[in-house]
Amino acid sequence: MTVQQEAVSGTGAGVPLEVWIDQDLCTGDGICAQYAPEVFELDIDGLAYVKSADDELLTEPGVTTPVPLPLLTDVVASANECPGDCIHVRRVADGVEVYGPDAD
Ligand code: SF4
Repeated sequence: MTVQQEAVSGTGAGVPLEVWIDQDLCTGDGICAQYAPEVFELDIDGLAYVKSADDELLTEPGVTTPVPLPLLTDVVASANECPGDCIHVRRVADGVEVYGPDAD
C-alpha cells in the first residue's frame, strides 16, 4: 500500500495529519528540506523547523504544522530518512503518531 493509499484508508486521509520536529535531535543535514521544502526549512541556527501554510518558519519547541495531502509522500519520506529520527507525523484528531520514531 502506498503512502497516499494509506492516507485514504486508515492511517491518514481525509484524516488530517500534522508534523513537528524535535530540534534536540536534529543533525542539520537538511534532508527534510530537500524532500519537502514547502514544509521544512533550516534556520540560521543550522537546525530544521516546520513552516506554516503561509511559509512562516515556526520555531517554538514542539510546534506542529498541517501536512498538505499532496506533500504527504515527501513528508513521510523525510521522516523515514531523517538521521536524527526527529520528524514526527501524527493525526490531528487524537495526536497518535503515524509516521516517525514513535509510530507503531
Ligand atoms: S532530516 Fe531530520 S536530522 Fe536532518 S535536518 Fe531534517 S529534521 Fe534535522
